[in-house]
Amino acid sequence: MGKNILVVADVRHGALRNVTKEMLGVANQLAGGGSVHVAVLGHQVDVPDLGAAGADEVWLVNDEHLANYTPSAYRKAVLEIYQKVNPQVILFAHSAVGKDLAPVVAMRLGLGQISDVTDVQFEGDKPLFTRPIYAGKAFTKVAPKGEPYVVTVRPNNLSPYDGAAKSATTHDVSLSFETPDLATVVREVVKKATGGVDLTEAKIIVSGGRGVKSADGFSPLKELADVLGAAVGASRGACDAGYCDYALQIGQTGKVVTPDLYIACGISGAIQHLAGMSSSKVIVAINKDPEAPIFQIADYGIVGDLFEVVPLLTEEFKKVLV
Ligand code: FAD
Repeated sequence: MGKNILVVADVRHGALRNVTKEMLGVANQLAGGGSVHVAVLGHQVDVPDLGAAGADEVWLVNDEHLANYTPSAYRKAVLEIYQKVNPQVILFAHSAVGKDLAPVVAMRLGLGQISDVTDVQFEGDKPLFTRPIYAGKAFTKVAPKGEPYVVTVRPNNLSPYDGAAKSATTHDVSLSFETPDLATVVREVVKKATGGVDLTEAKIIVSGGRGVKSADGFSPLKELADVLGAAVGASRGACDAGYCDYALQIGQTGKVVTPDLYIACGISGAIQHLAGMSSSKVIVAINKDPEAPIFQIADYGIVGDLFEVVPLLTEEFKKVLV
């Protein structure tokens, strides 16, 4: 029998992030012919055609109290929609918001949670979720112990829905937020001037380590990233040295990324860095030390000085891409 699946859309700066479509893809698999519901929480969110993305029903909460994420107000909205949908599975993105909100909701409902899912396989109609353990050194498969349960989905890993477009019904939900729901109020969001492509959704990342030697040393990497339409990332070594902002840090204590192409420049390949990027589909390493551990996981390795190699790559890519 089909199931009810609830996807909580991942909204950033008033728009849905790609991971929402990836969650809708897996939600359709989990539903097994049942109904896929998506909750869109925010204020004046730009909502695309979610029927084409695999949703049967859209639950839209458009409220100024949801303009910026706060756990108490968002929890209230998710719990209200949960009561209406009565789902067997609730999916959140494994993003900054989802990582905070999912456990809050799971705790309130007394549900179990499977976090940071990178793949789903089925044994009959029973799902098996793949997730990393030991800071990404290994992966394990987890079967849910009962329903309902909560899942967080790592961006850039699962395929969007590719079935026939559905004609989704939209429900406008209006909520009244009382004082306890507004325990936290965001007065202002000050954006860091890192700009460019969002690291966690980027298809290509050019990343720099301590080998770039200075903040200016990131310039050739930024030029290469511009030509490729890539995001710029960094190791903690580069962040600690003050060469770049910590918002760029990739790894165990930074962001986890899974781009199609990861170009590591002047990064040694410490296990804590690999924890954040080893699931990249193709890894290119540029390092002047042929013994650098990064070469052990790289698909392509270039032994050389990044200040010579990176500008050469930029010139060659310009010939074909610009
Ligand atoms: P280094 O290890 O110093 O490597 C620099 C590399 O650049 C060397 O391999 C060198 O050969 C090469 N190089 C130098 N000059 C050039 C050149 N001109 N051309 C080409 N190559 C050159 N690290 C992370 O990255 N992310 C994390 O989230 C993270 N979390 C951590 C959490 C904990 C609890 C701890 C203990 C550590 C964590 N670290 C993390 C730190 C990690 O252990 C490493 O210290 C760090 O990743 C090293 O950064 P790096 O590779 O840039 O620097």
